[in-house]
Amino acid sequence: MEKEKINLFFDAMVIGGGIAGGESALNLANNGYKVIIVEKDLSIGGKMIMLSKVFPTLDCSACITTPKVSEISRHNNITIFTESDVNSVVKMGERHFRAEITRRPRYVVAEDCTGCQKCEEACPVIVKDQYQYNLIGRKAAFIPFSIASPKIAAIDIENCTLCGACEKACPSNCIDFTQKALDYVIDIKSVVVATGFKLFDPLKIERYGFGKFKNVLTSMQMERQLAPTRPFNTILRPSDGKVPDKIAYVLCAGSRDDSEGNPICSQICCMYSIKQAQLLMGALPMADITIYYIDIRAFGKGYDEFYEQAKGMGVSFIKGKIGKITKGERGDLTLRYEDVSTGKIKEARHDMVVLSVGVLANDEAVPMFRSNTLLTDPLNYIRQEDPIISPAKTSIEGVFVSGTASGPMDIPDSILSAGAAASQATAYLKRIN
Ligand SMILES: Cc1cc2nc3c(=O)[nH]c(=O)nc-3n(C[C@H](O)[C@H](O)[C@H](O)COP(=O)(O)OP(=O)(O)OC[C@H]3O[C@@H](n4cnc5c(N)ncnc54)[C@H](O)[C@@H]3O)c2cc1C
Ligand code: SF4
Ligand code: SF4
Repeated sequence: MEKEKINLFFDAMVIGGGIAGGESALNLANNGYKVIIVEKDLSIGGKMIMLSKVFPTLDCSACITTPKVSEISRHNNITIFTESDVNSVVKMGERHFRAEITRRPRYVVAEDCTGCQKCEEACPVIVKDQYQYNLIGRKAAFIPFSIASPKIAAIDIENCTLCGACEKACPSNCIDFTQKALDYVIDIKSVVVATGFKLFDPLKIERYGFGKFKNVLTSMQMERQLAPTRPFNTILRPSDGKVPDKIAYVLCAGSRDDSEGNPICSQICCMYSIKQAQLLMGALPMADITIYYIDIRAFGKGYDEFYEQAKGMGVSFIKGKIGKITKGERGDLTLRYEDVSTGKIKEARHDMVVLSVGVLANDEAVPMFRSNTLLTDPLNYIRQEDPIISPAKTSIEGVFVSGTASGPMDIPDSILSAGAAASQATAYLKRIN
């Protein structure tokens, strides 16, 4: 017998609940439209909710994202499905899309969970915490992170041993191992694709030693170490828990590199590395920070001043491409590079290296569209049909793109793009009413 599907109706469906998707949904909802956000993760907020501070203002990222996320989740016109997949979107006819969506089970009754974390304390299973970018562990019964929205527990069923300790500990009796996935058929008039970006996998550049040398980190791991919701109370190097005093940044790790299949500039790595360097100078005043770069691309308002500020604070900048990273004594690392200013091959020792990993397209939305093709550009970002005049327009009428789904960009540009997507979707919805 075919499983029953729940039918719902909305004016717009936003796929992806990062800052861009959230902002597009909020604008549409404030214009009086009923919106559903479909987010594949356990929380909305995307990458921004995980960041430390934002360049170039150094405002606290969580402090900006949390009220925004709370406004989105409380809005009467917005329905949020987290832990959900869009299986298909079919254009049924003129200005009518039908989406099939699956909500995966959390094994926790959302309405009854108070977020008390008693289940987390009781659970004996420890696995890597993907929300702390594997720097620490989490339990199989867990709240994703302290500012998650919704702040509700979930059971990681793949790692759960079904020991029942969480069930016994939960004061609200809301652990439910019988929960099943729910299938929905959603009728909508327009779609906003806000599926964001993926990060370059540093394991692909073997000569940088990520995954082999514990003290080679990614920029997202450093972002977590600097965030207010950080895993440790200071900056620690993973091999021995020592506070590092000589930290290197390797820019363009997986960007502007044809050999890695990503020839373009990621637009954010120079600036977030300069930001992290400044934050590190504050957190570890005695530390030496060196940024190895090809070019510094400080293109936005206040960005060049921010770069100059980092130099003024004592951050060293060396124009040089890193050839290889090798492990020295006691977990230290030796960077071999060509110093472009002298043309000489040099070596430098650091006790921690941060790879400023690049941005890649997330093309997961493309196969969702079954009746019409959602076209992409040569690097798999959603193609903007007319980037200057109509930046959110895609190859399918009634489907709009928001934020980094259409290309690398920082938060201010993602928010601008989200506004464009919402206003173009509003104009489209007005036209059909
Ligand atoms: C280390 C680092 C530091 C940064 N620091 C700064 C900074 O200081 N200042 C600044 O301006 N920018 C910074 N950025 C850039 C910033 O993170 C992005 O500009 C911003 O996150 C883009 O938002 P977005 O919503 O487009 O994408 P994302 O943040 O990627 O959000 C996309 C959302 O869509 C969801 N999703 C993906 N696929 C699907 C699917 N198939 N179905 C449903 N949902 C899906 C994701 O789970 C996520 O919630 C930094 C980036 C990094 C990596
Ligand atoms: S049943 Fe699973 S989630 Fe619950 S405590 Fe045991 S291992 Fe952890
Ligand atoms: S599932 Fe129960 S124990 Fe776990 S956070 Fe929710 S209410 Fe607390």
